[in-house]
Amino acid sequence: MKILKKISGTVLVSLLLFSCSQKNKESNNTLLLENLRLIDGNGGNPVENVKILIKDGKIVQIGNNISDKEAKIVDLKGKTIIPALISAHSHIGTLKGTTTKPENYTEENILSQLKKYQDYGVLNVMVMGTDRPLLFESGLRDKSAKGEIEGARIHSAGYGFGAPNAAPPVDFAMDKVFRPTSVSQIPAEMDSLTKVNPEVVKIWVDDFNGKYKVKMQPEIYKAIINEAHKRNLRVAAHVYYLSDLKKLVADGIDIIGHSVRSEVIDNATLAQMKAKNIIYIPTLSLDEYAFIYAKKPDWINDEFFKKSLEPGVYEMITSAKYQDDLKKSSNFATNMKAFETAKQNLKKVYDAGILVAMGTDSGAMPLRAQGFSEHLELQLMTESGLSPLQAISVATKNSAKALKIDKDFGTIEVGKTADFIIVDGNPAQNIKDTRKIFSVYKAGQKVK
Ligand SMILES: [Zn+2]
Repeated sequence: MKILKKISGTVLVSLLLFSCSQKNKESNNTLLLENLRLIDGNGGNPVENVKILIKDGKIVQIGNNISDKEAKIVDLKGKTIIPALISAHSHIGTLKGTTTKPENYTEENILSQLKKYQDYGVLNVMVMGTDRPLLFESGLRDKSAKGEIEGARIHSAGYGFGAPNAAPPVDFAMDKVFRPTSVSQIPAEMDSLTKVNPEVVKIWVDDFNGKYKVKMQPEIYKAIINEAHKRNLRVAAHVYYLSDLKKLVADGIDIIGHSVRSEVIDNATLAQMKAKNIIYIPTLSLDEYAFIYAKKPDWINDEFFKKSLEPGVYEMITSAKYQDDLKKSSNFATNMKAFETAKQNLKKVYDAGILVAMGTDSGAMPLRAQGFSEHLELQLMTESGLSPLQAISVATKNSAKALKIDKDFGTIEVGKTADFIIVDGNPAQNIKDTRKIFSVYKAGQKVK
């Protein structure tokens, strides 16, 4: 009897504790954000004085007449909410300090970079073909997808395909990339790649500004595209030249991972890209980084920029030697012209109704700072002729579509995951206001 009483006492206490913690959990998980200016990612004009109710990480109600007794109320008067940014082309783990090398690819480095993206409001990133076995063997990739680790959620193209003794450069931690010398090798390589469940397949079709004498041959990329499609995988190509783009479009490419920078894309090619539902990722920030430090950009001393850099990079890019070498480089004029062509092509591609997604190539090199690059990309899209609201849609809704995660992410709408950035100011008027980050929420939890 005594024992029974003791047990039921314990049960009662545990039950009470349980229900208390349940109740606390519930109230903590219900948030009512008030007095916001809403930019929902769909491209429409901002809506003023909006309330947003969030429960268990999801957006459950949006309007101006919402109340919830359980909810924790957050007054955000004067601030704007935009969906969290999504990068459809980035790199993680290989960059550290002023180096990009295989030894940098540790769990610790990956986690700290995912956290950095998160601090900048970038909550989903696609790593384009430079991942290493550790990501899959450690379970990091799965844990990230389930939201069990902090930081941006990782999406992976696994190991990409390049050309033997050519692009991508082996000395930039690209030693895990497949480099088929004949079409016959490709099925087995694709089988090996599918073991890590890539979300897309990455190919490099470029000579890196004439650095390499050879490029991936058309019969090789055609076979890669065919083998990927047989396994229900899409292929994203690193391109530079219009001539390569035309062949890739004819051969069934799904995603263009960088801008065409050799010349302006003709209307016939644009029409084919549109008809084939090809996705275009401009990565304009990469092209600007190729020459901009010779001229001291207006953001060079912004804390928002400096904090995104790895240690030693600021000193490197502001040194007289670096700036001098850049100006004297044989590619300096070509790179400036390539950037202008890239901007023209973005506007043409966008106006042709082709789906444009945001990518930056951040993390591939010390210059391509993770987090800052995504906000610079927004600005560069507007300098290409997109409106700020269009640029925001590209970086949120369209990128979610490109990654096929638009059921849960990319816009601020009922039913979607509560991933967003609260900023001071109004990015619809001044796109640089996305840099005035007040807070970042990942699945309804304030993470910055
Ligand atoms: Zn890249």
